[in-house]
Amino acid sequence: MVRNMSLTKVPMPEQDPNIRNKNFLEVTTGYTPEMAIEEAKRCIQCKQKPCMKGCPVGVKIPEFIALVAKGKFEEAYQKIVETNSLPAICGRVCPQETQCEGVCIRGIKGEPVAIGRLERFVADYHMENSCEVAFKVESNGHKVAMVGSGPASLTCAGDLAKLGYEVTIFEAFHVPGGVLMYGIPEFRLPKSLVQSEINLLCKSGVDIQTNMVIGKILTIDELMEDYGFEAVFVGTGAGLPKFMGIPGENYNGVFSSNEFLTRVNLMKAYKFPDVDTPVNVGERVVVVGGGNVAMDAARSAKRLGAKDVYIVYRRSENEMPARLEEIHHAKEEGIIFKTLNNPTEILADENGWVTGIKIQKMELGEPDASGRRRPVAVEGAIEELKCETVIMAIGQSPNPLIKNTTPDIDTEFWGGIIADEKTGATSKPGVFAGGDAVTGAATVILAMGAGKQAAKAIDEYIKSK
Ligand SMILES: Cc1cc2nc3c(=O)[nH]c(=O)nc-3n(C[C@H](O)[C@H](O)[C@H](O)COP(=O)(O)OP(=O)(O)OC[C@H]3O[C@@H](n4cnc5c(N)ncnc54)[C@H](O)[C@@H]3O)c2cc1C
Repeated sequence: MVRNMSLTKVPMPEQDPNIRNKNFLEVTTGYTPEMAIEEAKRCIQCKQKPCMKGCPVGVKIPEFIALVAKGKFEEAYQKIVETNSLPAICGRVCPQETQCEGVCIRGIKGEPVAIGRLERFVADYHMENSCEVAFKVESNGHKVAMVGSGPASLTCAGDLAKLGYEVTIFEAFHVPGGVLMYGIPEFRLPKSLVQSEINLLCKSGVDIQTNMVIGKILTIDELMEDYGFEAVFVGTGAGLPKFMGIPGENYNGVFSSNEFLTRVNLMKAYKFPDVDTPVNVGERVVVVGGGNVAMDAARSAKRLGAKDVYIVYRRSENEMPARLEEIHHAKEEGIIFKTLNNPTEILADENGWVTGIKIQKMELGEPDASGRRRPVAVEGAIEELKCETVIMAIGQSPNPLIKNTTPDIDTEFWGGIIADEKTGATSKPGVFAGGDAVTGAATVILAMGAGKQAAKAIDEYIKSK
């Protein structure tokens, strides 16, 4: 096989920015088979395989890429799902630049191999061309419950079902999938993909009970004592929004990013009037924050018809936690960046409807405890931005419901569940935890890695009883 020694990745086709900022269709449209083979040939199959060590679920990256290079796409898919049950999702939303691609040898001189794009291609190829056969293993008679249905629980459930466990997922919302369904917008992660990966899990015997808020309808103790679950995995995520505590945050037109994105994604506000969930953002929207969530909220607001959408972030662009690709896409779509600015007050009319926001100019001072340079206010430099909507996207923390109803599970002062790093075991025997509920807001692949580790530990725990 002739290697492709190009220093750059085969470009990803995408919708024109001025067209896509008015629709909710996927931004990037995916490789063709020819493009995938061409890109796969850029992998030099190095002996060290650093990419695999950079992947929290240990996908056999060089092996699947070698199969893609030979045009063996279905075999490549089977290689990936040996360790990763959600490849169509990971191929789209994983921060590959800091994981597998971040350590790729081809990245030393030029761009790394486009591992994420290839993973997505293979998963999409499989969905389009294969008749999916779900695995179904004979029951081993042991019951395990998952609380929450995000990527941590879905992964844990899938791995346990493969071992014969009878798994039930309890989800508070009416739709399973966690942030994959209610947070990440359709234009980055089509919901039909998430749904079909969940359907496969159900066909494999996993039972999903929606509208079940554990801690309200049933407690963890009741699941274990009255319903016969021998172990429980808590994957409840970090869905509690944070606010800044500035004046005006309770005015009409101020949203948490969670509420805004849930209305847009889960309640399908973008299909209004066909769907009865109107979200009227007005002409001007200010999104506060600099992470992926802020980018998603801003880009969604633009698509809902806002003329001017601002990102207000108190540090500089270099410190923004959002993926570079998301920042790049947001800028292309016309989002206006007001970096080194910090909101101080939200303004409203006499009826309490938002009319604007005051922002304080900042400059970077000495590094703080996080190692990043601390933003310091520039005296007297306050500006007013006119707007009708303000979306707060400054972070989330775990909901205290589980902590409050299961006091024998130890938690951190900020609400995160304390769980063993390798097994997910909590202070309560038989209860394991992982994903954002333990780490605070993190990533899909880290949540999946935690779900995987916990599945192994739950299997060992039940066998040792
Ligand atoms: C807008 C947005 C964009 C993001 N973009 C990216 C990205 O591009 N790449 C990336 O890797 N990560 C991204 N993330 C982060 C990523 O989605 C999360 O790290 C990941 O989903 C965490 O998975 P989880 O399974 O721990 O929890 P979640 O996905 O949060 O799922 C938890 C589930 O538990 C349910 N639940 C909570 N409490 C209860 C209860 N008491 N009883 C029953 N059910 C309950 C919730 O309803 C929810 O469905 C993003 C996050 C957001 C919010």
